[in-house]
Amino acid sequence: MLTVDLPVARRGMLFKCKLCGQKCCNMNPEIDKEDLERIRKIFPSFKPYVSPEGKMLLMGEKGYCPFLKNGLCIIHEYKPVICQLYPFYPIEKKILDNLLEEIPEDVEIVGYGLEEYVFLFDEKCPGIGEGEPIDFMGLLNKFLQAKHFLKNPL
Ligand code: SF4
Ligand code: SF4
Repeated sequence: MLTVDLPVARRGMLFKCKLCGQKCCNMNPEIDKEDLERIRKIFPSFKPYVSPEGKMLLMGEKGYCPFLKNGLCIIHEYKPVICQLYPFYPIEKKILDNLLEEIPEDVEIVGYGLEEYVFLFDEKCPGIGEGEPIDFMGLLNKFLQAKHFLKNPL
């Protein structure tokens, strides 16, 4: 069993995107059909990069997401679910139970049906700890509604 200090969201945690454009957009997010349909509402001929494994990725000629311009996302209202969730990522609590000897008592746990979820986060995001308390239930709903993730559970 691991005892690593995973970045797990705690109750009352704050977040506000500082629109730094530095961390989250220097990656190639995977998208699903729903994400693609949404993006095509504003860029009708957009074609994602398709990896050898058949994954649709946002990867432009420069190697990073093609919608990052001058440090900002130009499809902010239409961006993929994984971008909407960033810097948080929900996992089922039982996965964390298997990873850690003991879960700190102030960890944010959100119940949904018979399952419980916790949220990992990217510590490099400068928006963590700023702004308003996080609506974890809203994040979880967004996550669960994304067909891609339902088809490919963690
Ligand atoms: S790294 Fe964090 S603060 Fe910067 S743009 Fe992304 S979400 Fe916002
Ligand atoms: S879609 Fe927008 S938020 Fe997502 S990686 Fe690209 S520029 Fe960043």
